[in-house]
Amino acid sequence: MTTDAPLSCDPAEARAGHIGHWIGGRALACAARLQDVFNPATGRVVRRVAMADEQIVSQAVAAAAAAYPAWADIPPLLRARVLNRFLALLNEHRDGLARLISEEHGKVFSDAQGEVMRGIEVVEFACGIPQLLKGDFTEQVSAGIDNWTMRQPLGVVAGITPFNFPCMVPCWMFPLALAAGNTFVLKPSERDPSASLFMADLLRRAGLPDGVFNVVQGDREAVQALLGHPDVKAVSFVGSTPVARHLYQRGAELGKRVQALGGAKNHLIVMPDADPGQAVDGLIGAAYGSAGERCMAISVAVLVGEAADPIVSKLAERARALKVGDGMEAGVQMGPVVTRAALERIHHYIDTGVREGAKLLVDGRGLKVPGREGGFFLGGTLFDQVRPDMTIYKEEIFGPVLCCVRVADLKQAIALVNAHPFANGVVCYTRDGGAAREFARHIEVGMVGINVPIPVPMAWHGFGGWKNSLFGGMHAYGEEGVRFYTRQKSVMQRWPRGPSGAEFHMPAAKQDPGM
Ligand code: NAD
Repeated sequence: MTTDAPLSCDPAEARAGHIGHWIGGRALACAARLQDVFNPATGRVVRRVAMADEQIVSQAVAAAAAAYPAWADIPPLLRARVLNRFLALLNEHRDGLARLISEEHGKVFSDAQGEVMRGIEVVEFACGIPQLLKGDFTEQVSAGIDNWTMRQPLGVVAGITPFNFPCMVPCWMFPLALAAGNTFVLKPSERDPSASLFMADLLRRAGLPDGVFNVVQGDREAVQALLGHPDVKAVSFVGSTPVARHLYQRGAELGKRVQALGGAKNHLIVMPDADPGQAVDGLIGAAYGSAGERCMAISVAVLVGEAADPIVSKLAERARALKVGDGMEAGVQMGPVVTRAALERIHHYIDTGVREGAKLLVDGRGLKVPGREGGFFLGGTLFDQVRPDMTIYKEEIFGPVLCCVRVADLKQAIALVNAHPFANGVVCYTRDGGAAREFARHIEVGMVGINVPIPVPMAWHGFGGWKNSLFGGMHAYGEEGVRFYTRQKSVMQRWPRGPSGAEFHMPAAKQDPGM
């Protein structure tokens, strides 16, 4: 189906129609290719999204390139004021945005509100850009010479984001990129694209000049066009590991700066001395919240020694009692998964777990939600006796499936986690400070929680895993984010009064008084 009807970023109008691109400060008519966007709770198509081709991507990059010189020249303090107004608008409209997220993603409304808040926190951090861009200055590095460093923007930068956080993950990228003086092209997930246009319109209303922030909707075709475009200087990616690895490799070939955050398999270790009630609460929320579709979701419970039996039986009881339904309904704890394809993939993993010998204690397959029979629902699923050689342990399932692995002691638990190729987040529940310290020091994972089930770092600390969970040297947001979106320039200056003669040796500070 094709259409050239003009598109609106107004969510009420978008509700009825098509989701397009946002280029040069305005919504753009749909492209020839459209894809269905579903409400996962009903299984029905709610709108259709335009899929950008190379031409649309070129148009967006050209708009961003044209806007760059003037935006980069604006003092950081004034750029921060635009972001401050955007922040106020985001706060004002956060429930509208959360409703849109819940409708296209399926997560419960309170969780969508939480996502928006975590995005807002990065905008708050980005508002401090004048302080963050302050360089270093050394007076008198040699006689009459000063040296300073400054950080300057890169140019046009792109962000490619996953379906699971359609507001928060883009907010890990564009607020800091814009604050630092870059212009931006966002390629959000095609599964829940509306949040991107909602934010684009708020940026326009905040006074952001046209072309500074652009959105191209689409899939791998748009991503390849963005990555390959010579005017795109850097790419931030968040999504699955195979795509992250590919973009990082291709970006390196093209000489681009790339940070590519990938998949995860996050473990939560329960020590025998942990408070069992707190550990079970932590596991249930972190494994089944957002239907397990969080990159920091816990998908493996590592139960140490005698902690195992009582924890497993409480987990089974709680997993069976989960209230699963439409995320917009009060009291629902877990919504559907994002697509029918995701539902089928997770079913397949459960079949594989059973076939490979894991003990299926709670089976979420076949769950029906009355009145929502077409929705992509799956109940909380729990496996015990999972071994490291099983597929359900090795691979990222990205659904509400928790695998219990039993080990004898903390040393074995740490060795198990450290042997896994994913290393995004990890948690330990214990009441022993010494054990917690040993765990935090020796665990080879980027983000660590001690009695904190989902240790997503705050906006000023930066987010990122290790190993197959992150390709590239710098974490998202925080000061690493500022470094990613800027490049350092060092300036050395002197104002000699007369000729000082040619020097043929490597210049170094002179007149060491001790020599
Ligand atoms: P995905 O990799 O399928 O898609 C991510 C983005 O890449 C989307 O915009 C998509 O359109 C695009 N894309 C998909 N296939 C592509 C291809 N072959 N070439 C180029 N671009 C392509 O991921 P998803 O299903 O949207 O999100 C879930 C995944 O993201 C999980 O693996 C999850 O762990 C991961 N994730 C990681 C983090 C993190 O911080 N490490 C955060 C959120 C999600």
